[in-house]
Amino acid sequence: MSLKSEQLFATAQNLIPGGVNSPVRAFRGVGGTPRFIQSARGATITDVDGKTYIDYVGSWGPMILGHADEEVVAAVQQVAARGMSFGAPSELEVELAQEVIDAVPSIEMVRMVSSGTEATMSAIRLARGVTGRTKLVKFEGCYHGHADSLLVKAGSGVATLGLPDSPGVPAALAQNTLTLPFNNAAALEQVFAEHADIAAVIIEPVVGNMGCVPPKPGYLEAVRTLTRNHGALLIFDEVMTGFRIARGGAQERYGITPDITTLGKIIGGGLPVGAYGGSRDIMNSVAPAGAVYQAGTLSGNPLSMTAGLVTLRRLRDESVYEQLENSTKKLCGGLAAAAQEAGVTTVTNRVGSMWTSFFTSEPVVDWDSANKSDRQRYGKFFHAMLNEGVYLAPSQFEAAFVSLAHTDEIIEQTIEAARKALTRMDAD
Ligand SMILES: *Cc1c(COP(=O)(O)O)cnc(C)c1O
Repeated sequence: MSLKSEQLFATAQNLIPGGVNSPVRAFRGVGGTPRFIQSARGATITDVDGKTYIDYVGSWGPMILGHADEEVVAAVQQVAARGMSFGAPSELEVELAQEVIDAVPSIEMVRMVSSGTEATMSAIRLARGVTGRTKLVKFEGCYHGHADSLLVKAGSGVATLGLPDSPGVPAALAQNTLTLPFNNAAALEQVFAEHADIAAVIIEPVVGNMGCVPPKPGYLEAVRTLTRNHGALLIFDEVMTGFRIARGGAQERYGITPDITTLGKIIGGGLPVGAYGGSRDIMNSVAPAGAVYQAGTLSGNPLSMTAGLVTLRRLRDESVYEQLENSTKKLCGGLAAAAQEAGVTTVTNRVGSMWTSFFTSEPVVDWDSANKSDRQRYGKFFHAMLNEGVYLAPSQFEAAFVSLAHTDEIIEQTIEAARKALTRMDAD
């Protein structure tokens, strides 16, 4: 039973569109009533009806240390008592900038904003400003936030709801966004042959927003070579992968140097943050150093900077990525074995501590193959897992995350829950 959640959701639907402040939370991809969450700690979240779940959403990526980490909470409380926001520079911004620059190979200068959407939107303006070109290339199933020019064939919630490209995006703007299949270098080569006016190619180097889809060997290299040869900038959207699949993100893990990188999620430690960065040369084009305008009232606020700093400092220790790799590998191995035992066909993709089990029989390498997944079966699995006390992403087209608070015991409990859920899901 989830009585209080049901009551709250009924009330919320009268007050907030769809009852939620971000679409995927509404459970439309899996059916049923979203759980209203009261609190969270470590690897678990607890709903308003008092039921506790092992959580693999992690606020959609930021909570890599686990929820309500004591050190993060204490630091934020301390800083809050000294003022929430000044609208003037503070030392914490300098410290977080240094931390990001030290970690992410291609970033020499960085600008903080308040969300991933703001980061990608600003990165595109910057790319257009620097190159003097207009067109943008993105890939089907990649989600880069909800700015107009990026909301074309987007993944994540747009894909979950099966929405066509959003009303409200002017056709004239959408025309400047060219959309290609992911993991297909020939398609990119062709688009460059046909269009001279491409300012930038934006990509999730490991896609998280159609579920987890890794790049094929050589693909990112090809994207880098093609963009360089055609004078377009390469934007790595590492809002999800930054500090997640390696301290230096996908660019460290795969050894590719993008021109501009966007960050978010983990670098805010659970508070609203985004960032974009690149070479000194490119970033000096941003106002007030340069002419490309971008600003933000709460950008670099002390609370977000503090949560981010404490989180990133804890991730300096390389052993944390080893731990994440091992625990997630164990989890995915266990889930695959449980599915096989139950006679359920799934394909599990994983990079580091990002993973997705697709209810399909073919390899998932792009949006077309992801979209062949059986969403209804995913929905059944999701609810069966929820019933067993495991909270997965309420959509087939989202990555799941393991945190440092997911101990071996918690992983084993999850696999056991999956064994039960997979054998019972068709009976419910
Ligand atoms: C989450 C996400 C965004 C958007 O970030 P918000 O903070 O939700 O605006 C952009 N790009 C990627 C790759 C993301 O995963």
